Amino acid sequence: MALFHSKVYGIVQGVGFRPFVSRLAGEFNISGSVCNKGPYVEIFAQGPTESLKQFFKALEERPPERSAILKVETEEVQSGKTFHTFEIIESEKEAGEIFVSPDIATCDKCRAELFDPHDRRYLHPFINCTACGPRLTILDSMPYDRERTSMGEFPMCEKCAEEYHSPATRRYDAQPVCCNDCGPELYLINEPQVRGTEALQRARQCLRQGGIVAIKGIGGFHLSCDAQNSAAVSRLRQLKHRPVKPFALMMKDMAAVERECNIEPGQETVLTGHQKPILLLKRRMDSKLAPEIAPGNPKVGVMLPYTPLHMLLFAYPDGEDFPDSLVMTSGNPSGAPICRSDEDAVEALSGICDLMLSHNRQIRLRADDSVMDWLEGQPYMIRRSRGYAPLPFMLSGAFSKDAAVLGIGGELKNTFCLGKGNLLYPSPYIGDMSDLRTVQALQESIKRMAELLETEPKMVACDLHPRYNTTAAAKELGLPLLPLQHHYAHILSCLAENDCQEPVIGVSFDGTGYGTDSTIWGGEILKADYQGFERLGHIRPFLQTGGDKASREGWRIAVAMLYGLTKDQEQVRELNQKLNLCPDKELAAQFLMADKHINAIKSTSAGRLFDAVSALLGIRQSSTFEGEASMYLEFAAEAYESRFCAGTVLFSGRLPSSSPLRAAYGKTLRRPPAGAAQGGSRHRAAGLQIPCGPGCPDCRSLQAGPPENRTWHRCPLRRRLPESPAHAPYIALPQKRGLPSAETQPGAPQ
Ligand SMILES: [Zn+2]
Ligand SMILES: [Zn+2]
Repeated sequence: MALFHSKVYGIVQGVGFRPFVSRLAGEFNISGSVCNKGPYVEIFAQGPTESLKQFFKALEERPPERSAILKVETEEVQSGKTFHTFEIIESEKEAGEIFVSPDIATCDKCRAELFDPHDRRYLHPFINCTACGPRLTILDSMPYDRERTSMGEFPMCEKCAEEYHSPATRRYDAQPVCCNDCGPELYLINEPQVRGTEALQRARQCLRQGGIVAIKGIGGFHLSCDAQNSAAVSRLRQLKHRPVKPFALMMKDMAAVERECNIEPGQETVLTGHQKPILLLKRRMDSKLAPEIAPGNPKVGVMLPYTPLHMLLFAYPDGEDFPDSLVMTSGNPSGAPICRSDEDAVEALSGICDLMLSHNRQIRLRADDSVMDWLEGQPYMIRRSRGYAPLPFMLSGAFSKDAAVLGIGGELKNTFCLGKGNLLYPSPYIGDMSDLRTVQALQESIKRMAELLETEPKMVACDLHPRYNTTAAAKELGLPLLPLQHHYAHILSCLAENDCQEPVIGVSFDGTGYGTDSTIWGGEILKADYQGFERLGHIRPFLQTGGDKASREGWRIAVAMLYGLTKDQEQVRELNQKLNLCPDKELAAQFLMADKHINAIKSTSAGRLFDAVSALLGIRQSSTFEGEASMYLEFAAEAYESRFCAGTVLFSGRLPSSSPLRAAYGKTLRRPPAGAAQGGSRHRAAGLQIPCGPGCPDCRSLQAGPPENRTWHRCPLRRRLPESPAHAPYIALPQKRGLPSAETQPGAPQ
C-alpha cells in the first residue's frame, strides 16, 4: 500500500472534478480524499502502487468534459495514515493561482431533459448540471461553492439535494442545481404577478406579434424581436438610436441557421460548441431575414440558444408557431453597459421595449456575448467574453509570483486584464468608455474580478492618452501608474496571447491612439518586445481636421488628403464637384483649418485613411458608428474580389507596370495556362487573371496554399452577384482609372 499526495491545477472547479475523482477512485479501489483548495484540487490516494499508477493515468487522460488540467504535482507521502474510504471534503480556501470557469452553454443531456415530459425538470428554465450552466456570472468569491454564488438564496429541495450529494448523478456537486420546486422563477418586471410559464408565454406572444422584449439572460439583458419582421427590426433600430450597426441573432437550431446562411466546414462546430459565441456568417441570397438586421452587410452574427430559457423561448410546446430567428442584441441604451439588474432594465430599457422578462437569479458580473469572425477556414476572435472570460493566458517567462498588475484597457471596446504572476486574466467585454455608466461598470467589474481572483493590483497600466476616461479611472485607484502607447499595447497583447518571448516587428493598423509625439497614431510598424518599442514606420501623416467629428466624418479626411496632396484649392474644388464629398461652403472652412492648423492634428490612423478612401469612392461619407465607413469599404472590396476572381478576364494584353492592379496583386497576377477558362464574349481572348481569393466562397476548395498555386477556373459567383448599386462605384473603378480594356488595348492576342 502506498499513499500519494497530488495537486491538480487548471479549470477543476465547477466542472464536476471532485465527483469524477471520487468515481475514478471507486473504479480502481483507491481510498483517500479529494478537496477543493481554491487554487487547485488536492488528492490523497492510497492503494496498491499499480492501481495508483492507473488511477493517476486515467485522471489525466479522461478528465471531465469541461475541465482543463494545466498541471499535476504528485509525490509519495511517507505516513502511517490509513484511509478506509474515499471522501470528498468540503472546500478549504487557500491563496494562490485561481482558475474561474466561464459560463457554459446548456448541454445536450439537460436539453433532452428540458423537453422530456417525464423528467422532473420538464420545462424548467434554469436546468443545469455539472457540465453546464452559469459559473462566472453568478460567482461571489472562490472556491466555487453554492453559498458563494447567487444561487445561495435558493435552498435545494430534498430531491435536488439528493442528486447534489450523490456521486452517481450528473448533478453531483453542481452548485447551481435546482428544479421547478426550488429554483429561481421567471416573471414580468412590470407585472410581477405574471410568473413562471405564464410570463414565458406572454413573452412568446409579444415576440410573435412583432413586439420587442427585454430578456434577462446569463450575463445581462438582451433586446429581442422577430428577425424576419422588418417593421419590428426597424422599430428597434429607431428606439435604440442605432441606424445601421448590425444586430446579433439567435436562431432556433442548425436547421434554421442553414436556411438563412451559407455554412462553411468547421463553422457548425463553433456554433454548437459549449461556448456558443456569435459567429459572423454569410447570409444566403434567399435568406428571409429582414434586411434591416445588418443593412448592406453580406454577413450576419448568429448564435444558438445557450440557456434553457432561450431554448424554451423558441420551442415551448404550446402549439403556437414561433419565429426561428430572433434579434438578440445587448440590452443597453446606445453607449451604456449591458443591463444586469431589474433596476438597470427599468431605467434604461423601459422606452425601448414592450415587455421585460426577468428572473430572480442575480447576475453578479456582466458578460456580453463573445463574437467571432471567420478567416481562411478558422474562427477569429473579435470579442472575447461570455464562454471564454476569465480563462487566463499563461506566459512562460520568469515572473514574480507576487506580481499583480491591472491593465485597465482602452477607451473603445474596453476589456481589462488582471495579471498575477505569469497568468493573465482578461475580463469579459465592458464597452465604450465615453459613457460614464460604462466607466462605472468598469470600476465595478475590476473590483469583483480582483476579489474573485484574490488579487490586489500593485500597479496599473493605462493608455498614454491624457484625456481618456480610462486614464482618469486608473489614476483614481491611487496606484503607481504605467502609461503605455496604444499601438505598442496592441502588439504587447498579441505577444502575450501567443506567449512570444522574442522581439517582433508588430504591425498595428487601428483607429486612433495617442502617439509619444502627441500626434495621432494608427497605422504603425513597431519593433517591439516586453521592454519597449521603436517606431520603424507608419502611414504617411495627413491632417485630421474637425476634431472629434473627424472620426465620424470620413469626407473631412478625404478633403484634407486631397488638399494635402495637391496644395491647390481650385483643384480640390474641382475634384469635390466630381466626388461630391461636401457642400462647397464647407470646403472653405476645411482649407482654413488646414492652413492655420486650427482644430487640425497630424495623424497616421489607418482607420481614418480607410474612412477617407470610403468617402472618395462614394461608399460612405460619414459613419454612425465606429468603423462603419471602413466596414462598407471592406464589403465593396470583397464583392469586387468575388466578381473578379479566378476565371475573370479583367482585360487582355499586357498590363503596364505602372498599373495599380499590378501593384495590388503583384505576383498573383499571371497569364492563365493555355486552355484555361475563357472569359465572357467581350473578353474572348484569354488575358491576365486574378486567382481566387478568400472573398470567393464557391472556390473554397481551391484556396489552399499560396495564391500562386491556386487553380484557375471560372467562379460561378461572378454570374450570381446582382449589380447592386451599393457596389457600383467601386466595381466601375478600374475603367475610371484608365485600365486598358480588351477593346482598346493594342496588340491584344486574338
Ligand atoms: Zn447539463
Ligand atoms: Zn429542487
